[in-house]
Amino acid sequence: MRNAGLGGWPARRAQMSPARTAFVHGERPLSYAEVHERTTRLASRLREAGVRPGDRVVYLGPNHVAFAETMFATHVLGGIFVPLNFRLAAPEIAYMLEHSGASVLVYAPECAAQCAAAVHDRPHRPGPRTVVALESPAEGERHYETWLAEGDPTPIDTPVALDDVALILYTSGTTGRPKGAMLSHGNLTWNCFHIMIGVDVTSTEVTLISAPLFHVAALNQTLLPTFLKGGTSVIMPSWDVDRCYDLIERHRVTWMFGVTAMFAAFARSPRWPDADLSSLRTLMSGGAAIPVALIRAYQERGLVFCQGYGMTETSPGATFLEAGESVRKVGSAGVPVFFANVRVVRPDLTPVAPGEPGEVLVQGPNVTPGYWRDPEATAAALAEGGWFHSGDLATLDDEGHLHIVDRVKDMYISGGENVYPAEVEGVLFEHPAVAEAAVVGVPDDTWGEVGRAFVVPRPGANVTPGDIRDFLRPRLAKYKIPIYVDIVDALPKTGSGKIRKPDLRRRPLPADPEE
Ligand code: AMP
Repeated sequence: MRNAGLGGWPARRAQMSPARTAFVHGERPLSYAEVHERTTRLASRLREAGVRPGDRVVYLGPNHVAFAETMFATHVLGGIFVPLNFRLAAPEIAYMLEHSGASVLVYAPECAAQCAAAVHDRPHRPGPRTVVALESPAEGERHYETWLAEGDPTPIDTPVALDDVALILYTSGTTGRPKGAMLSHGNLTWNCFHIMIGVDVTSTEVTLISAPLFHVAALNQTLLPTFLKGGTSVIMPSWDVDRCYDLIERHRVTWMFGVTAMFAAFARSPRWPDADLSSLRTLMSGGAAIPVALIRAYQERGLVFCQGYGMTETSPGATFLEAGESVRKVGSAGVPVFFANVRVVRPDLTPVAPGEPGEVLVQGPNVTPGYWRDPEATAAALAEGGWFHSGDLATLDDEGHLHIVDRVKDMYISGGENVYPAEVEGVLFEHPAVAEAAVVGVPDDTWGEVGRAFVVPRPGANVTPGDIRDFLRPRLAKYKIPIYVDIVDALPKTGSGKIRKPDLRRRPLPADPEE
């Protein structure tokens, strides 16, 4: 058996298109031949450090070419790659190092303080045997570039099967202890095929890696499909609107993926009216509902969106709306991706009628085999037949298109009526002074639950809770209008840009809702 996993990709690409640019990071382009050579050298170093099939290698840092090299090198050896959110605090990192049982940790200088606290200051915890710093290694640590450069460039062949685990991705952690979703080499590969079909990725693609790679969306919707096709990934270390404009113009970027908050900030930039965006052929949004008003603002600028819906556990694509349908079916999350099955069901698992909300279940070769060292969470999420419970509410229209309504957990009931915060947020977004908004249900003696909106105004805009309620009144049924409106500077977010609704629900209520 050969390496059927991602570890075999650099070698194949180096044979097929050695001179083409695989990655641009800062001033330095790397060809596919160079990526293959560097990955092989690094793999030989990891092997010396004791990494064997199934061993875990952790990467902690912003987007960097070393992320991809460490991942491929781990996979060359049949190991499991564990990318962590670089915004985690030391105790969270310590938990994940211990829970994953990592044998090697590679970290970026931005994370040096957290790493030191997580690894070195807690000697009682079992930590990684080898720690590799991208810059300024502490005593006992390796320096990434020097270590790699002296590695053996002789190709390594490890038997890896498509069902072998490739990644452990700790979920955003919006509730409880983070769980480690496992994704196999096959899961990732199927999703890459889906993106290659849906986005129509080509070998001349110039893809901007604008979202954080530790999240499956950026990794498996942009970097990996681009690599598989032999295109170029332009790596942006972390999200920055200005840098995003610079990179698009300089490298003639052809497509990028982002979440709502990123596309909203991009369209608010003073550069929006005059920037040269002519190279962009499509944009892809996913990870959260995208308000129709925002989709329309891009359409007016001649830019189309394709939309993906999915989750870490489905690698992530579950449904997809192609760019060609983005106007006719605006606001829909599309139809099931090739090879996967999607059902929308009532709590008794019977199928819903068109237009009736139900929970989305997904089955197929892109679905996780479960959570790392957590059989209980695995059993709770995966029903018989491998159907994954998404926890999302959606409706199906009569053409079989999915429309995401909200998270099951986010829906609240006011006076017996179901309220879907995503709907209210979509209307809030139409207010010209609103930059961002989030709505949660909070307890209420009279109605059971009522809405509480958190609104971030656009810079320089002056808006009051009363203005917001006046704006919503003619647009929404009375029971959907939030009783509480808080004007805030920012919303709490996870590392992948999702709003932390549990944090908002926990905030103490003002005594007087009209305040
Ligand atoms: P994660 O596992 O971090 O990727 O989060 C997955 C969750 O993001 C899903 O279960 C949905 O709640 C949400 N999500 C992803 N894509 C969309 C979308 N297109 N529209 C609405 N919500 C989405």
